[in-house]
Amino acid sequence: MKGLTILGSTGSIGVSTLDVVARHPDRFKVVALTANRNVDKLFEQCREFHPAYAVVADERAADGLERRLREAGLETRVLTGVEGLERVAALAEADFVMAAIVGAAGLLPVLAAARAAKRILLANKEALVVAGDLFMQEVERHGAEVLPIDSEHNALFQCMPESHRNGLERAGVRRILLTASGGPFRTAAPAMLATVTPEQACNHPNWEMGRKISVDSATMMNKGLEVIEACWLFATGADRVQVVVHPQSVIHSMVEYADGSVLAQLGNPDMRTPIAHALAWPERIDAGVPSLDLFAVARLDFEPPDMQRFPCLRLAYEAIAQGGTAPAVLNAANEIAVAAFLERRLGFDNIPRVIERTLERMPVQRAASLAELLQADRESRLLAEQLVSELV
Ligand code: NAD
Ligand code: MG
Repeated sequence: MKGLTILGSTGSIGVSTLDVVARHPDRFKVVALTANRNVDKLFEQCREFHPAYAVVADERAADGLERRLREAGLETRVLTGVEGLERVAALAEADFVMAAIVGAAGLLPVLAAARAAKRILLANKEALVVAGDLFMQEVERHGAEVLPIDSEHNALFQCMPESHRNGLERAGVRRILLTASGGPFRTAAPAMLATVTPEQACNHPNWEMGRKISVDSATMMNKGLEVIEACWLFATGADRVQVVVHPQSVIHSMVEYADGSVLAQLGNPDMRTPIAHALAWPERIDAGVPSLDLFAVARLDFEPPDMQRFPCLRLAYEAIAQGGTAPAVLNAANEIAVAAFLERRLGFDNIPRVIERTLERMPVQRAASLAELLQADRESRLLAEQLVSELV
């Protein structure tokens, strides 16, 4: 029996994780669940999974949850804030930690999980974008383990030789082929991008996800963040990571070897597959995902990414090439721009503008300690907010 903490249990990945866990009560025991403010959903999850701990953002949310738990006769202890998240990420009873908080807010708890030598099932790609170097060092130092949940990186992990940790070149890997659906605006007229609404941007053709990652998919910043994520997970430079637009989202990514072989992982676009893979690894368990119907899929298309239409992808490649605090600046500016777009305070086509200008104005610090990274994150958010208000 493995104990599991789910950071961000009320979100899209969190809910899919609980769906897989519920299919295997003999294998997994939920020890902690966390939410930002969705107390109703967290309470329902506590009723079903009886975790020892539940974490919410603040005292107000905690009071409401506590009262309902006691009324329902549950013994779940309620904790709050980042300290609460760090605590449940490091619990002795938790063998595995699902990192499914969205954004840089997930960084400190995921670092706590690394220091506590957990198996980290990493969905929270922003944590790697902000502090990939530092996080991978902590994982190494404390003997933690990282299994990627992002469907592309999970596919890459499945197609990699075990020796990939000694360096891709030595393992005979030539390139990483990172597939991208191209999002809802792959073929839209560029002029239309100025008038895109949050509803249109969140209407992804193949995947159902949280709102932030849905917008990231529409701008293709998601793929940019994933290029950076791949660099840290597989210890490689971005020059070995080729983005391949593949609108059907059936091939989740590929690894190309020195001998010309290309290994791909295919499946229905359902996050329960990578989640079940990482939960059970190296075994395989049922994820509730139906068989892939290749006759219904019928064809697979591929095209190069259009960096003119999707400047966010170019900005991400530039940020990882710059290194230091640049990816943290990129991520912070993106979080602010996406939130402003979702609140209808910023046009869709201005998202890359806010990010580019923030990157231009923020000095890049080379040796990035956690304190420097967090400061770059804070300052970039302030600057990006200011740029948003200037662009209105
Ligand atoms: P979501 O918005 O549906 O859920 C986010 C979760 O994080 C919720 O439980 C929310 O309560 C919690 N949360 C949000 N802000 C918080 C804060 N400040 N402090 C503490 N908790 C907070 O997002 P999602 O789609 O589930 O994505 C989660 C992560 O997984 C993201 O990093 C995303 O990029 C990554 N991811 C998601 C998918 C997907 O299919 N949804 C696929 C690949 C990767
Ligand atoms: Mg992905």
